[in-house]
Amino acid sequence: TIAFLNHQYLPLSEAKISPMDRGFLFGDGIYEVIPSFGGRIVGFSAHMQRMENGLRALEIENPFDRESWQRVIQSLLDKNGAHLGPSIGVYLHVSRGMEMTRNHGYSENLTPTVFAFAFRIPPSQSAHPDEVKGLHVSLAKDLRWQRCHIKSTSLLGNVLHFQEAKRDGKHESILFNHQNEITEATTSNVFIVEQGIVRTPPLDNQLLPGITRKLLIESLINENIQVEEVTISTEKLMNADEIWLTSSSKEVAPVVSVDDNLIGDGKPGPLWRKALLAYDRYKFN
Ligand code: PLP
Repeated sequence: TIAFLNHQYLPLSEAKISPMDRGFLFGDGIYEVIPSFGGRIVGFSAHMQRMENGLRALEIENPFDRESWQRVIQSLLDKNGAHLGPSIGVYLHVSRGMEMTRNHGYSENLTPTVFAFAFRIPPSQSAHPDEVKGLHVSLAKDLRWQRCHIKSTSLLGNVLHFQEAKRDGKHESILFNHQNEITEATTSNVFIVEQGIVRTPPLDNQLLPGITRKLLIESLINENIQVEEVTISTEKLMNADEIWLTSSSKEVAPVVSVDDNLIGDGKPGPLWRKALLAYDRYKFN
């Protein structure tokens, strides 16, 4: 695998940074994961917009303009496509950089560390929706921080939640806040279906503004499927006809059980199938 580190392409196994990098010491940085299928990139400008917002929130200067980022992504796809196959995610990472002291407060003049690499993601399920089994998830109190709208590399809260779900033999964990309202899952956004209406929690500081979420909402509107951004209680979640999770690598994935309670009839639902195909038609727009 060929990676990109600070303006250089090199084998991933040879990429090295200083342990004094604030990304290493504090998780002080922003990242993105951008999916591609058959060399076509999904949601490039939306991913760039989110990264720009995150960098601005952290007061890190964006080291590249969009064209330069596009060149990095394209180069990683070109250099790695042959061995990774047609479904590739590109990870982009900008940390604040390094300084030779360890202080929570940062200097203003640091040079951001830029790292990127490509990795295999599952092929789109849209080609074989009948073979999709559906995910088993847990439900847990959201114990992360209150800046979940920032795609920060500080992911310990998400890591601990995910590992707890994994220990229970689950694929993911759906999280709820103090008011018993669903925020998101540890690596994805949450949608439910109630009597033919698709619902997803509104954007705020409690969840990541997922690009798949955004593209799915747009594709549902395109197909005249009713979709609402409204708070969802844990009770509504448990009684939903369908639940879906969205992320760049999962696209739109059906959930068939929550804490071992079946959702619907315990099989991927009919609207999920429509939504996945609508998303698949729309995603390169
Ligand atoms: N929520 C969290 C916590 C995530 O980590 C992710 C992506 O990995 C998402 C939501 C989905 O975002 P996207 O659709 O942009 O991949």
